[in-house]
Amino acid sequence: DSQEDMLLLIPGPTPVPGRVLRAGSRPMMNHRCPAFHELLLSCTSSLRDCFATSTDPLTLTASGTGGLEAAIVNTLSPGDKVLSVITGAFGQRFAEIAETYGADVERIEVPWGQAADPALVEAKLAGGGYKALLCTLNETSTGVVNPVQAMAAAAKAAGALVLVDAISGLLATPCETDAWGLAVVVAGSQKAFMIPPGLCFVTMSEAAWEATKTAKMPRFYFDLPAARKTLAKGENPWTPAVSLLYGLRESLDMIAEEGLTNVFARHLRLRNGVRAGAAVLGFEALASDDVASLAVTSFLPPGGIEGDAFRKVLRGHYGLELAGGQGPLKGKIVRFGHLGYVHEAEVLKGISLMAAALAELGQAVDPARAVAAAREAMA
Ligand SMILES: *Cc1c(COP(=O)(O)O)cnc(C)c1O
Repeated sequence: DSQEDMLLLIPGPTPVPGRVLRAGSRPMMNHRCPAFHELLLSCTSSLRDCFATSTDPLTLTASGTGGLEAAIVNTLSPGDKVLSVITGAFGQRFAEIAETYGADVERIEVPWGQAADPALVEAKLAGGGYKALLCTLNETSTGVVNPVQAMAAAAKAAGALVLVDAISGLLATPCETDAWGLAVVVAGSQKAFMIPPGLCFVTMSEAAWEATKTAKMPRFYFDLPAARKTLAKGENPWTPAVSLLYGLRESLDMIAEEGLTNVFARHLRLRNGVRAGAAVLGFEALASDDVASLAVTSFLPPGGIEGDAFRKVLRGHYGLELAGGQGPLKGKIVRFGHLGYVHEAEVLKGISLMAAALAELGQAVDPARAVAAAREAMA
């Protein structure tokens, strides 16, 4: 199987450790039995640390987008005014979900590759009447990290709930759910959690739970008060993805063994290594250093080479899968995922394979210097 030998460095799905894969192959259990209760409750307890919250994160069977939809429909009513801060494709998606369910969405559009400006958000919120602020911790389509803490402070002052898409950000980027006063935070299994796609995690503050009582958007599968009620017994309202929960327990153990501080430090090192190595090869980073994502880095290849042409050579001849661009960046950029189960060795391999592909495409490159720059940046 050629996929089995690929070096997969995309911002989700991310590589899954053998420990997690093996856990996922265990026999099924009854999802309404004591062993399952114990599994779900122990995962929930570990998830609190990941989100830096004292509340119980909910584990839903859905990809990340399902978690975003749950955040919207459980806290808002049709006609509610919300402010959506859009820094790329995923910010757009969050706004579209809210609009689909009838929210009155006002957008702050930030040029792709830049981060949101909290002062602008604050000024807009001061206009008043906003029920919620929608924002993205890590904008995966561009490789930008947004100042969520500052935006949350502005929202708090304006009396708006802060709903955060932290799907690719969580565990790669510090996110202090309780300390920053975030009403809802959503994460996904296939990003820094190192497990296959299919689960998402949603935290709800007391204010968010309060909002569920009056929220009028339709909800059934994603009824979070129902999920909270069954979680008290260690169950989901519906049949959960049992295999993914086996994997989750394993990945949460791995995260605890490494230590959250070290997990963040590793993501920072890898980000610096990728940027340093690629810069020597002539790649132009889309995001500036001060707002550069800890999870994924977007580049324009040197010499006018189209991103997709470069990726085709990488995939076909060198077994490296990088992600392409979305929206206006489609075809143009390459995105190097460095989140989840990724370490120094994968970054060094990635940089040297990128050098090989560039050479094949006729660029003058110095692979040894690029690898050395990446290694030094990660030292
Ligand atoms: C991956 C991602 C999503 C979408 O998640 P799906 O799992 O594809 O539904 C949403 N937001 C961000 C920031 C992401 O990186």
